[in-house]
Amino acid sequence: MQKTWRAAFHWGNAETPIDHSIAKHIEYFTQLYNVKTNTSSNLPGNEPIVLKQKSRLKAADLSALTKIVGKENITTDDFSRVRYSAGKFYGDLLKLRAKNPGKIADAVVAPRHEEEILKILQYCSKRKIAVTPFGAGSSVTRALETPKGGIVLDMARHMHRVIEFSPVNSTITVEGGILGPALEKHLNEDGFTCGHFPQSFEYSTVAGWVAARGAGQASTGYGRIEDLTVALRVVTPAGIIETKDYPAASIGPDIKQLFLGSEGVFGVISRVTLKVRRYKPQNTRHVSFFFRNFETATNAMREMMHAQSGVPHLFRISDAEETDVALKMKKLDGTMIDKVLTFLGYREMARCLMLVSVEGDSKYTSLVTKKMKKLARKHGGLAVGSYPVKKWLEQRYSSAYMRDPMMDAGIRIDTIETAVSWEKLHGLHQAVRQYIKAQPQTSCLTHISHVYETGANLYFVFASPMAGPNEAQDFAKFHKGLVDVIFKNGGSLSHHHGIGRLTSDRLREEIGPLAHDILKAIKRQLDPAGIMNPGALNL
Ligand SMILES: Cc1cc2nc3c(=O)[nH]c(=O)nc-3n(C[C@H](O)[C@H](O)[C@H](O)COP(=O)(O)OP(=O)(O)OC[C@H]3O[C@@H](n4cnc5c(N)ncnc54)[C@H](O)[C@@H]3O)c2cc1C
Repeated sequence: MQKTWRAAFHWGNAETPIDHSIAKHIEYFTQLYNVKTNTSSNLPGNEPIVLKQKSRLKAADLSALTKIVGKENITTDDFSRVRYSAGKFYGDLLKLRAKNPGKIADAVVAPRHEEEILKILQYCSKRKIAVTPFGAGSSVTRALETPKGGIVLDMARHMHRVIEFSPVNSTITVEGGILGPALEKHLNEDGFTCGHFPQSFEYSTVAGWVAARGAGQASTGYGRIEDLTVALRVVTPAGIIETKDYPAASIGPDIKQLFLGSEGVFGVISRVTLKVRRYKPQNTRHVSFFFRNFETATNAMREMMHAQSGVPHLFRISDAEETDVALKMKKLDGTMIDKVLTFLGYREMARCLMLVSVEGDSKYTSLVTKKMKKLARKHGGLAVGSYPVKKWLEQRYSSAYMRDPMMDAGIRIDTIETAVSWEKLHGLHQAVRQYIKAQPQTSCLTHISHVYETGANLYFVFASPMAGPNEAQDFAKFHKGLVDVIFKNGGSLSHHHGIGRLTSDRLREEIGPLAHDILKAIKRQLDPAGIMNPGALNL
C-alpha cells in the first residue's frame, strides 16, 4: 500500500476501482449539480504523507513502550500517525484532503495481549501520555481525534482472536479487535450468526461496535449491540474489570452498561462475549411494498411493531425523495412500471418503499411476512415481491465506497441520524428536511432503518455541491444548525454512531448536569490521570 494522504482517508483499499452501481450514483449527482469545484476540499491526496511536525514522544517513553510491545509493534512514521488520528467523519476527510491533519498522535502502538495493554496504560498514566483506543477507524463522530497527541492503540493488528465459542450457551467470546467479516465467517462455519451488520461491517471491530453503542442493519430483529453483549473485559488505568456471562442478574446497576457507548474514555475493551443465533438463510423471507406516502408506511410499520406477532429483522422505509432517487438509479422513471404505479396512486415524490426481511424458523418467517402483508394492505401498501430487498442486500455495504469519489467530484455528502418516539417522528422528519432543503441545490434522502415498539430512528443523507474554499467552515455551520433542529424537535443526539467530539458539547444538556457529573466521577475513578481519549463524551 502506498503511504499517501488518500490511503489514510479512503474507505477500503484506495487502489480498488469503483464498481458499476457507485459509478451510476456519482454520474447522477454530478449531472444533477453540474459541479465544477476544484479546491483543497476535493484534492485527491495522491502524494505521500510527509510532515514537518515529527513525533514528540520522548526517547525514554519510546524505549519504555518498546520494551512492553516489542519494536515491531510501535511506529512513529508520518503515515501511521496521520492514519490513526482520524476517523471517517466528513470533516476528517476534508482535513486530510487539505493535508492539514491538525494535532495528531505521536506513536501508534499495537498491543498483543491484555497484560501489555495494562502495562501501557499504567506507564502512560504515570507519564500523563494520552491514549486513544483505535478499532478499525470507521468512527464518524471525531471520536478518534488526538487533541493531546500521545499514543493510539491499534487493537485490530493482533487482538483479533476467538477465545471461546459455546453452542450450548449460544455465545462467542472474542478479543475486541476482531473485524466483522472474521467474526461472521467463524460463526457461519458452525451454523451460527451474530446478526450485527453495520454498514461499516467490513471495516469495523467488535469492541468498536460496543464502544460506540452501535446498531446493525438487522437490529430490529437481532437487537442492537447492547442487546447482543453478554459480558466484557475492560482494561482501565486503574485495573481490569470483568463482567460475568450470567444470562441476567439482580446485583445492583449493570456495570457492563458503563462501557457500552464509552468511546474509549474509561479504558480499553479487550474481550467481548456476544449472544449468537442459529444461521438459517434458507428460511429467510423477503418482501417489499410501495405505500402512497411516508405517513401510511410508518403507520403500517408501527402497527407491526405493536402486533405481538414477531418482527422483521431488516425493516426499512425510504421516504419520498430517497424512493425517487432509488427508482431513478434503476432507470425506472418514465417506464411502464412507473406509469402503473402512478395510475394506482403511488405518485412520484410521495410514494415510499418499505423493505422487509425475516429470518429464523420457517414457520416464524412465514407468520411474520403474512402479518406484514396484511397490515400493509390495510394501509394501502402494494406488495412488489422480494426483488428490491435482494438488490438492497447485494449492495448493503457499497454506499460506503461512494463518498470518496463524490468528494473527488466536488460533492458534499454526509449523514446524520437520530432516534425519536412515534409521536414526534413526522414533525422531526419535516423540520430536518425543511432545514436541509433550505440550502441551495441540496438533496435530502431519509430512511427509517431501526425500529422499536416506542419509536424508530431517522437517518438523513444529504448531498450538495461543496461550498468552495470555505467548505470546512460552511459545513461546520450547517451541521451545527442541523443538530439544533434535531434537538429542538425531540430527537436524540445520536441513534447508533455515538457522539465522540462532534456533538459532545451538547451531552451535558442532553442528559443533565448531574448525570454528566456522574460520568466525570467514574472517569476520575478509572482514569485518574485523564489519559483515556481526552475530550470525547465531553470528559
Ligand atoms: C460508511 C460508514 C457506515 C457506518 N454504518 C454504521 C452502522 O450501520 N451502524 C453503526 O452502528 N455504526 C455505523 N458506522 C459508524 C462506525 O462504523 C461504528 O461506530 C463502529 O462501531 C466503529 O467501529 P471501529 O472498530 O471502526 O471503531 P473506531 O472507529 O476505531 O473507534 C470508535 C470509538 O470506539 C473506541 N474504541 C475502539 N476500539 C476500542 C476498544 N477496544 N476499547 C475501547 N474503546 C474502543 C474509539 O476510541 C472510538 O471512540 C458507520 C461508519 C461509516 C464510515
